[in-house]
Amino acid sequence: MVSPVLSRIAVRASRQLGRQRASFGPRTIVRAASSKHPNGFVPPTQEDLTELRDRVQEFTRREITEEFAAKVDRENEFPPEMWQKLGEAGFLGITVEEDHGGLAMGYQAHCVVMEELSRASASIALSYAAHSQLCVNQIRLHGTTQQTEKYLPGLVSGTAVGALAMSEHGAGSDVVSMTTTAKEVDGGYILNGSKMWITNGPDANYIVVYAKTDPKAGSKGMTAFIVETKDDSGKVAKGFSVAQKLDKLGMRGSNTGELVFDNVFVPKENVLGQLNRGVKVLMSGLDLERLVLSAGPLGIMRACMDISLPYTHTRKQFGTPIAFNQLLQGKLADMYTAYLTASSLTYTIAAAVDNGTPAHFLTPHSLFPTAENLESDSRDPSVKSQDCAAAILYAAENATKCALDAIQCLGGTGYVNEVAAGRLLRDAKLYEIGAGTSEIRRVIIGRTFNHMYAGKATAKAQ
Ligand SMILES: Cc1cc2nc3c(=O)[nH]c(=O)nc-3n(C[C@H](O)[C@H](O)[C@H](O)COP(=O)(O)OP(=O)(O)OC[C@H]3O[C@@H](n4cnc5c(N)ncnc54)[C@H](O)[C@@H]3O)c2cc1C
Repeated sequence: MVSPVLSRIAVRASRQLGRQRASFGPRTIVRAASSKHPNGFVPPTQEDLTELRDRVQEFTRREITEEFAAKVDRENEFPPEMWQKLGEAGFLGITVEEDHGGLAMGYQAHCVVMEELSRASASIALSYAAHSQLCVNQIRLHGTTQQTEKYLPGLVSGTAVGALAMSEHGAGSDVVSMTTTAKEVDGGYILNGSKMWITNGPDANYIVVYAKTDPKAGSKGMTAFIVETKDDSGKVAKGFSVAQKLDKLGMRGSNTGELVFDNVFVPKENVLGQLNRGVKVLMSGLDLERLVLSAGPLGIMRACMDISLPYTHTRKQFGTPIAFNQLLQGKLADMYTAYLTASSLTYTIAAAVDNGTPAHFLTPHSLFPTAENLESDSRDPSVKSQDCAAAILYAAENATKCALDAIQCLGGTGYVNEVAAGRLLRDAKLYEIGAGTSEIRRVIIGRTFNHMYAGKATAKAQ
């Protein structure tokens, strides 16, 4: 029997080649899961996900070798040809409709790709996530038919690069305090302001940009836009510039920029979602972003074990492999346990989103079945801000710890740049900062409890 993953990839490939659509056997339609998926979405089976994982591993063995990952880190430059390679492999449109060239496989599948790419090169994977989740998935979720038809095919095939810009120098954790403005003019809007720390910003063709359309209205005066910053020939939009590409501690090779918008015109048909409802677009995107990005630190943890397990079993001191020393066994066991715990959390939550069912272990309904909590569950039973925050909080902090343990297991060798352990530590730390810091993730989880116990008024007063 042809497996569903192979079928989806084959269908995509046959379309690219202009051949007739391959037909594959009927599948059991469970239901259209949550509103976060294409119509008729069928959650993947474990077999699908295993096969996808095998495919990504084949890809990384071929395209992102250890030497290549080290070079990307050393040169601090994203390999531009990687976009098309990722596109041809089908990885850039994991959550996107097949009509737009995607695989329509959902969020568990997106986590699988993110984890395996991160295991090979966390910085390439970070750029991958900014493109395929922050930009592509936001356009897929909130775009009009005209917008999705115009932008998704190029982004999914890898001929165009995507990014998302919300953060500013003065508006990071408190992102709603942003000062970039979009003033209405004849036929569209004029954007003015600057954005900071934007992944793929220096390379992007299309950027989802958040700006204030009614600055006095606070969170109710923000709008999302699709901004075409660079055309196919590489010509940069009038008024747009990259003030600087940032020289970072880690995630080197994932190009991060400070972007300037100086009277950039955006046509009105490029408003993403509703006017002045950008905060809704932003917040719903942040939950899924945290979920998919939590697979980044999972990949880093795997990479830590990939280095530490063979090394500690071959390196001998006092006449025996150092892995037979119980103090090092403790470190290896802790790495393994942290990975298993974090991956169980991430994939359980991703499965809940794919299946349209709340994760059973933490829902307002199951813990505190008040009328308000039942109502909040019924709005979207599958995506819980506190669960997405918990997934990345736990994975990120444990990835940093794993990387520190990997360096310790390797001793002096771990402290030398020739091996990847140091890079893994530098890369892992980003996940405690990007997509909302560890502190903000704890605030999100804490606020949920405040809502449950004390009602909204008290929670807002915090
Ligand atoms: C490599 C990289 C890539 C990024 N990519 C993107 C991107 O593609 N698009 C984008 O829009 N943004 C991006 N960011 C920005 C990122 O989301 C912000 O850096 C992050 O939200 C933190 O904001 P800040 O840096 O301004 O820190 P601050 O908000 O200034 O926080 C500094 C410290 O204060 C703490 N703090 C702040 N407020 C509170 C509070 N209320 N309670 C407790 N502690 C608090 C924080 O947790 C942190 O420890 C990226 C950042 C990095 C480093």
